[in-house]
Amino acid sequence: MKSHEKTKSIIDIYSSSRKKSSELYQRAYEILPSGATHDSRYLNPFPIYIERALGSKKWDVDENEYIDYWMGHGALLLGHSRPEIVKAVTNQMAKGTHYGGCSELEVEWGEIVNKLIPSVDKVKFVSSGTEATIMAIRLARAFTDKNKIVKFEGHFHGWHDSVMPGVKPPYDKIASSGIPDAVLENTILCPPNDIEALSRILEQNNDIAGVIIEPTGGSFIILPLKDGFLKSLRELTKKHSVPLIFDEVVTGFRVSPGGAQEYYNVMPDITALAKVLAGGLPGGAVAGRADIMEYLEFKEDPKWNRYKKIYHPGTFNANPLSASAGVTALNIVSSGEDIQIANAIAKYLKDELNKIIDKHSINWCVYGQFSGFRIMMDYDGDRKPGFENDIWRIDHAKLKKGADPMLETNFRCGMLINGIDMMPSFALTSSAHTEEDIDKTAKAFDATITMLKKEGILK
Ligand code: PMP
Repeated sequence: MKSHEKTKSIIDIYSSSRKKSSELYQRAYEILPSGATHDSRYLNPFPIYIERALGSKKWDVDENEYIDYWMGHGALLLGHSRPEIVKAVTNQMAKGTHYGGCSELEVEWGEIVNKLIPSVDKVKFVSSGTEATIMAIRLARAFTDKNKIVKFEGHFHGWHDSVMPGVKPPYDKIASSGIPDAVLENTILCPPNDIEALSRILEQNNDIAGVIIEPTGGSFIILPLKDGFLKSLRELTKKHSVPLIFDEVVTGFRVSPGGAQEYYNVMPDITALAKVLAGGLPGGAVAGRADIMEYLEFKEDPKWNRYKKIYHPGTFNANPLSASAGVTALNIVSSGEDIQIANAIAKYLKDELNKIIDKHSINWCVYGQFSGFRIMMDYDGDRKPGFENDIWRIDHAKLKKGADPMLETNFRCGMLINGIDMMPSFALTSSAHTEEDIDKTAKAFDATITMLKKEGILK
């Protein structure tokens, strides 16, 4: 940091070294609502605009370099522009991006999903995680001929109507307008980790089509599940003959090659997939038991085709570009090596960041699992070894809420000034991150906390 910058605020330093991003934001603001294309990319005073990315890094239009912990919202377990994927997609580009027809690639893509994800008999491709959970819920409704779904408070399944309840606390108020009351009547919320509450819901209601869950907990690692909860959930849903949907949009191919279901050895009836599935391009899939996936099949019976079969078009389903990236990514992921690297990086980084928190004597902690972690900025407990095992005991609304927005904004800008693009609430590692990245990130974290203290934002 230059000496004259010592008196400037974090936001001033951030703004003065990002002139081109600031100008782009002025243009964006005129045409894109709040200048943002994804709610979590919104940043006050303005976001950075990225020009290129490679491995664990990205560079903005002002030529600032960042170590990236967004990793394509989870899609980039293998890092940015992994050479094998670049090659596959580049080759495919020249051969056509949309055939308006079938291709061998989609068959290969389906076969590898079927090979890796243990509960899967059949696979149907869609274009995003949101579409995958829409279809998973529709399949559960078609199969059971029932209406209601149960979802857990704090769990996220995309932005369609049925799954909007319970996304953000306070959970009695929906976090979005534009959702019809009739839809809300068909989504029942259950507190996470509360098997008794779920049991009561299933006993008192005979119109339940399915239960949907993020199988490592809400928002991947933010609301961890209590040990054994998934197994109890499986037993209970089986007892009531209610299909269990695992939303493995993030966890699929990230937690293990076969997803959270393989890791915990708990099998759902339907699985929603996206992100790593498509190797960094848009893509999703719904997959599951043959007798449920049957509702996507044509039969000889015209009545079935007209009244029972789920109608399913979709212009970009299994498009050749996404399929080429997806097949390449899944072939790489299948060895498990990249997952282990990303997990080890996250663990090492968590330990380093917690040491810095100790040094500054602040009430933060860093917790997480697998290749994800989160910086909690209002942690009241102590951090004795193994403290992460007890995070699930903290009120889930508090865990999900995040810190004071002013603190979060200044933290984000401070980390960006120090060369790190990281949301405090949700950071992801990849197999492209290195030990050198960890050291740089730890130094940046230390410097950012010092800046926050100096400015009086953090006591
Ligand atoms: N489910 C989960 C668990 C997710 O994390 C997300 C996206 N973050 C979605 C569904 C929606 O996926 P998409 O953004 O591809 O629509």
